[in-house]
Amino acid sequence: MNRKGILVVVSGFSGVGKGTLMRSLTERYGYYALSISATTRAPREGEEDGREYFFKTKEEFEQLIEEDRLIEYACYCGNYYGTPRDYVEDQMEQGRDVILEIELQGALKIKEKYPEALLVFVMPPDAQTLASRLRGRGTETEEVIRARLARAVEESAGVEKYDYMIINDDLEESVEEVHRLIDSQHNKISRNLDFVEQIRDEIKTFAKGE
Ligand code: ADP
Ligand code: 5GP
Repeated sequence: MNRKGILVVVSGFSGVGKGTLMRSLTERYGYYALSISATTRAPREGEEDGREYFFKTKEEFEQLIEEDRLIEYACYCGNYYGTPRDYVEDQMEQGRDVILEIELQGALKIKEKYPEALLVFVMPPDAQTLASRLRGRGTETEEVIRARLARAVEESAGVEKYDYMIINDDLEESVEEVHRLIDSQHNKISRNLDFVEQIRDEIKTFAKGE
């Protein structure tokens, strides 16, 4: 049977652990295709161009927009972030499940363009844990941390637009939960109409005694 790829959007407040979760998921299950975004934000220590992000200048990013090479983009805390079109379309054509780890505005644009996309929101167990993970990461100044927490308040108003939530308490459990969630989507009737049709026809043939 022809297995169609699922487009999965994963969002969540800054510092909730989306990046960590997606890294573990793709390491454990090699068949997920994790899209690498373009951004104008500066690389954090340890980040490499082409691995975490494609790091771009504002001019380069605006060129990508102009050439329609992003399927969505948004401004987040003063920087552009966007999803390169080619990779997502190629991987989907090959039937792979593609994961976009993007923020709320981008997620809504994806839902508009791809109504069958699965939207998942990663939640912290509580607000205190979120703040201490964000600070504990040690990659942002206090000013940026405050801007990101303010953005989290805005994003929290959009959670109902998502299909499912995952509470990222124990990392291992969260990885398995995300995997099961994506995997279960393959069994939706609406994604298997060709197979349903085929079985219907076969049963008809049998019922006629052929
Ligand atoms: P995001 O990508 O959502 O901004 P990160 O993946 O960078 O968040 O995680 C923020 C911090 O929280 C990191 O220091 C990471 O190691 C830690 N972290 C992520 N998930 C968990 C978890 N389930 N339990 C404890 N710490 C976590
Ligand atoms: P960070 O700077 O912490 O890596 O990412 C900041 C925010 O930008 C996160 O919410 C992340 O999910 C989001 N983001 C990363 N890539 C993209 C993208 O391609 N498009 C959109 N809309 N958001 C993105």
